[in-house]
Amino acid sequence: MVSFPQDVIQRFLKSEKIVVLTGAGISAESGISTLQGLGSHWEKMDPMKLATPDAFAQDPKTVWEWYEARRRQVASAEPNEGHEVLAWMEEFFPDVTLITQNVDRLHQRAGSRNPIELHGSLWMVRCVKGCGEWEDRHELMNLPPKCPHCGSLLRPGVVWFGEGLPEEGWAKAEKAAQECDAFLIVGTSALVHPAAALPEAPTRKGKLVIEINPEETPLSKSVTLSIRAKAGEVLRELRNVLEKKGS
Ligand code: NAD
Ligand code: ZN
Repeated sequence: MVSFPQDVIQRFLKSEKIVVLTGAGISAESGISTLQGLGSHWEKMDPMKLATPDAFAQDPKTVWEWYEARRRQVASAEPNEGHEVLAWMEEFFPDVTLITQNVDRLHQRAGSRNPIELHGSLWMVRCVKGCGEWEDRHELMNLPPKCPHCGSLLRPGVVWFGEGLPEEGWAKAEKAAQECDAFLIVGTSALVHPAAALPEAPTRKGKLVIEINPEETPLSKSVTLSIRAKAGEVLRELRNVLEKKGS
């Protein structure tokens, strides 16, 4: 049973602006692997070697097969209670900004209105030549798929290791982190930068920063409260407590 200190709940309830940063851990309870493994024979593949521009330049088919396996895994998964509580928070609090490093769109499927997708989405494809082709594609594709406009290769619409983040999304995320009263970090190893640096501003300003993760991370020692348990269980309890105290 997770318990929250009274003062933390009071500060949370008084917060006007709340930011939530999520990582692969929030989708773990939906059966979606974190960076550590992907199930089946793809488990042997190292994402650090596949999710890069170099890997795609050398072997687009293998990279696409790996992404197609991830797309199928995500398509057969459902959002879990953790995603649902974060969607509920947008109804309960006046100003919530959800920032996700996930590419699975489970937040949207749980009802979150407009999460900032810092690392893009598995469901987007774009033309490597930058001819402007950038669209949602859900159906199975012949791999590697070709751009319908210029015939070049299409690539997954995700941010690969070594690439910059979408400028507009990153600017919004930084601004929200600078201005928030409370910052909730859920299921991220805090190893992938620059996303891992977002909690720095609220921490420096002495704002309420809560981390939910069964494991210790590089952020654990600097946050106000680090809760070592699974996202679903902790967020369910947080919702119960907030609803009771907030009514
Ligand atoms: P990560 O895989 O590096 O770390 C996952 C973290 O989640 C770990 O610290 C782990 O202890 C924690 N965790 C595991 N189970 C949990 C649970 N039930 N509740 C709460 N926390 C739990 O993930 P990251 O920090 O998001 O970085 C991974 C990168 O890979 C990101 O850039 C992301 O785009 C990508 N990625 C996305 C997905 C997805 O969309 N679901 C999955 C894998 C990787
Ligand atoms: Zn094109």
